[in-house]
Amino acid sequence: MQKGPETKSGTVLHGHCLCGAVKVEITDPKGPAIACHCTQCRRQSGNYIVSTYHPNETVTITGAQHLKWFHSSPDRPRIRRGFCATCGSNMFWECEEGWISVNSGCLETPTGLTTAYHIYCADKGDYYEIADGLPQYAKDDYPSD
Ligand SMILES: [Zn+2]
Ligand SMILES: [Zn+2]
Repeated sequence: MQKGPETKSGTVLHGHCLCGAVKVEITDPKGPAIACHCTQCRRQSGNYIVSTYHPNETVTITGAQHLKWFHSSPDRPRIRRGFCATCGSNMFWECEEGWISVNSGCLETPTGLTTAYHIYCADKGDYYEIADGLPQYAKDDYPSD
């Protein structure tokens, strides 16, 4: 996942799950937002996931005891997806120590975030088109930082 530049210094984004048990704050959010169309994201979210990636120290989770973590990639044990155990809201993704991905759908708008590109387009559902003109990458062959 791309580690982008800070979008706005001093900005704090707030978000929460559908039932409100889990809250998240992101200080100085990093951009851009990335849309992932992989089969895991689609199955877990119901469609696809748009998220941003942040250093742990800039993300505060309240009510973390209500989160359940699912290890979605047995061959990569560090990867896990966090969702509210009560309402099922799909909020977090982790793949490397010290960083956490926050799903943009749980954030209060306006976020000030902009989606930069789509990844895992080879795995996207056949019931929608990606027609926003942004770059599309077949798998994880997106630009790195
Ligand atoms: Zn909830
Ligand atoms: Zn994905």
